[in-house]
Amino acid sequence: MKSPVKLRSKLPKVGTTIFTKMSALANEHNAINLSQGFPNFDCDPALVSLASEYMQKGFNQYCPMQGLLSLRENIAAKVENLYGIQYNPDTEINITAGATQAIFTIISTVISEGDEVIIIEPAYDCYEPAIELMGGVINRVQLQPGTFKVNWTEVQKMVNQNTKLLIINTPHNPTGTILEESDMKQLEKIVKGNDLLVLSDEVYEHIIYDQKKHQSVCLYPSIAEKSFVVFSFGKTFHVTGWKMGYVLAPEHLMAEFRKVHQYNVFTCNTPFQYALAEYIKNENKFLELPAFYQEKRDYFTNIIKETQFEITPCSGTYFMLLGYRQYSDKGDVQFAEELTKKGGVASVPVSVFYGNKRDDHVLRFCFAKTTDQLDAAGEKLIQLNALV
Ligand code: PMP
Ligand code: GLN
Repeated sequence: MKSPVKLRSKLPKVGTTIFTKMSALANEHNAINLSQGFPNFDCDPALVSLASEYMQKGFNQYCPMQGLLSLRENIAAKVENLYGIQYNPDTEINITAGATQAIFTIISTVISEGDEVIIIEPAYDCYEPAIELMGGVINRVQLQPGTFKVNWTEVQKMVNQNTKLLIINTPHNPTGTILEESDMKQLEKIVKGNDLLVLSDEVYEHIIYDQKKHQSVCLYPSIAEKSFVVFSFGKTFHVTGWKMGYVLAPEHLMAEFRKVHQYNVFTCNTPFQYALAEYIKNENKFLELPAFYQEKRDYFTNIIKETQFEITPCSGTYFMLLGYRQYSDKGDVQFAEELTKKGGVASVPVSVFYGNKRDDHVLRFCFAKTTDQLDAAGEKLIQLNALV
């Protein structure tokens, strides 16, 4: 059907997300899908049983706007155990429909026309459109080539009186790098000296390797007092399709967040909140995650060592960046498409995560997959020599 009404696009440069595009291309060409970040294995059946139990018991009506109190209380206990900081479940914790809604609502709450936001690139794709929709101005700092470390001096220089928000993400999607204690010390200085807020995207808090400790802003009170911290149950409990997450923030920031949240989604899925409230009490369910995914990271790394891809060491997340210069000097979008169509493996080109589409000939691969899928992808990637 054609509408006679012309609509001025608020996001004229935005198309379909790269994750949707590459997953569709993978399906179309029957390729192994290591593009979009989701596990190809199921979650714990006990979690599904809990959700279904609560549905059958009739917990199917609206939850309180802030989220189920017992879930917020159990989150408060988890955060205090892990990071030694107290968030008041009544006033400082809110359940959201995944991290994406949390991020959108935070940006809507904080950013008005002309406000400046610093993002660190390559950056996860949902920050920028939300800032644009609010009329915000995006200031970009690129991670240092090769190491993907943050140049904090550059971040500091970027801050001015219009800067309202700095967005950080650790463990980092798409690079698989993490912020270290030394990074947080530098961030502390920037935050202390300036009147800005931090949005800390920590959806991969439990997917971190080599005995490293996740550097949550929650460990640094002088940062936490100016931060919205975002988490996702999707990543932690292998339920990306449930779209459940939460936000932590000091009371007066949370009060403003809730004003927007209540008219944005009002509240989130009730039976899943009951299920998660119970499930999250068993800390083994998240404490076992580093070992679980480290095994997959190491398995995938060993496969890749048999190819000519260049590995970027992965310290967190379930993504690994692989350089393909030994195979081709084509642009990464084109190479990713060809690799899907002819090579049988789908990945994500990293240039899409940069405002200026900087292309270092690197692709992102998701290794949150069963061994048979990783083996099958490996076989194809090893054979790739023959294709070029
Ligand atoms: N932030 C980052 C860095 C992500 O990788 C993702 C994707 N999982 C999200 C936010 C969004 O998470 P959710 O699926 O819970 O909306
Ligand atoms: N977070 C997932 C990724 O980085 C994708 C989520 C989505 O498709 N929007 O691949």
